Amino acid sequence: MTYQDSDFGTVTVTVNPRARSIIMRPEVGGLRVTAFRGASLSFVKNTIERFRLSLLKKQKALRERPQLTSEEIEQMRHAAKEFLPRRVAELAYMHGFRYTGLTIRNSKTRWGSCSIRNTISLSLYLMQVPEHLQDYVILHELCHTVHHDHSPRFWALMDTVTDGKAHALRAELHKYHTA
Ligand SMILES: [Zn+2]
Repeated sequence: MTYQDSDFGTVTVTVNPRARSIIMRPEVGGLRVTAFRGASLSFVKNTIERFRLSLLKKQKALRERPQLTSEEIEQMRHAAKEFLPRRVAELAYMHGFRYTGLTIRNSKTRWGSCSIRNTISLSLYLMQVPEHLQDYVILHELCHTVHHDHSPRFWALMDTVTDGKAHALRAELHKYHTA
C-alpha cells in the first residue's frame, strides 16, 4: 500500500514474509518500507516516527546527490558490460567457482544477486565503486553459488576468498549507494 507523507513524499509499504523487522529505505521521491507479515499499519507508522529525523537526513543527502543523466547511465552500462564479465570469470577461475550466467542490470536496490540456478546478476552501478569493493560484491555472489544464504558457512567461505576481510569490506561498501 502507499500513502502520502508531507516530509517524505510517497511512502510505499510492502510485506515480506522473510523480513524480521521493519526495513525503511529513503529514496529521492519517498520512503520504501518493508514490513514483516502481521505488522499493523500503526506499528509501521510508529516505527517510521521513531526514525523520522535520521531518515529525513538520509533522504536529504540523496536529493542533493547529482543524478546521472540517461546518457551517463548508458555509458556506464557499456563499461560494465565490457568489464564485469571478464572480472567475474577471472575471480571464478582463481577461486574455483562455477556459475551458469551473468546479467548486468540497472539495479538501484542491490549490488548483486545469485539465483538458485547460480546465475549471477550485477548492478551496473558497481562501476562507481572502487575495484576492491567490486571484487567484494562479485566474490559475495560467487560464494552464493556454494551457499545460497548468509549462514556462518557462507561468511567463512567469504573470509577464505578475501583474506579474512569479508566483514570489513562489507562495512566499507555500506558507505556507497547504488544510484
Ligand atoms: Zn548475499
